[in-house]
Amino acid sequence: MKVKLLNAPIDCLSMDQCIDRVAEIIRAGGARRVITLNPEILYRAVQFDHSLLELIKRADLVTADGEGIVWAGQMAGTPFSERVTGIDLMLRLVERAADEGWKIYLLGAAPGVAEEAAEKLTRRFPKLQVVGTRHGYFRPDEEVNIVQSIRQKAPQLLFVALGAPAQEKWIDRNIEGIGHVVAIGVGGSFDVISGRVDRAPLWMRKFKIEWLGRLISEPSRWRRMLVLPKFAWLVIRTYRFGRK
Ligand code: UDP
Repeated sequence: MKVKLLNAPIDCLSMDQCIDRVAEIIRAGGARRVITLNPEILYRAVQFDHSLLELIKRADLVTADGEGIVWAGQMAGTPFSERVTGIDLMLRLVERAADEGWKIYLLGAAPGVAEEAAEKLTRRFPKLQVVGTRHGYFRPDEEVNIVQSIRQKAPQLLFVALGAPAQEKWIDRNIEGIGHVVAIGVGGSFDVISGRVDRAPLWMRKFKIEWLGRLISEPSRWRRMLVLPKFAWLVIRTYRFGRK
């Protein structure tokens, strides 16, 4: 079931249900988009990037990525069962890919990182087929070749780590040229999987303060996080005081 949060449709699904949905989408075929929607992207989309909002509306699966979205769902009276973050979704899908024989492709992050992430993943899931990797620092005129090379490798799952919302826009622009694939934007996940960046410890995630862990390990993110109180105020204004 989709619920509308600040005018953006989000799927009200648990992690297990998201995995099953992706499996269904893969079986059905076609060029499909998955967005893990966090408060930063949602705020940007509803406040000043209309094309981003349209792109979210076109996605085949939109997950509630982050405690901020789960909280906003409670405020709106449409609670999400749990948060489904990019990295958690990716790891669960990769595990399923190894079992199902789905091929995966990793696009994004600094040179060498996608390869390292692929190596870590295949060590963890020996049956996994990683059919290609490509770093995410390319010129716009290289895009056509990248798309062609991904199409030739014919992955069922394409993980795109270019940062949000660049990755969502890249997917939207190029997916039709790739063919039958499910593409998912996963932000900094390759950095974490490769071991180059540490994820916040489990206790922080349990206490719902993973954002604080990220801020401590990457202080340069503070500017981006300024959007979080603005997002919270927009949610309160909309759902408590009934106006935008
Ligand atoms: N990145 C990239 N190409 C670019 C800009 C960024 O491949 O032109 C990668 C960057 O190396 C990092 C990821 O995109 O691996 C962005 O990670 P971040 O944690 O900032 O993701 P977000 O929080 O924006 O989803």
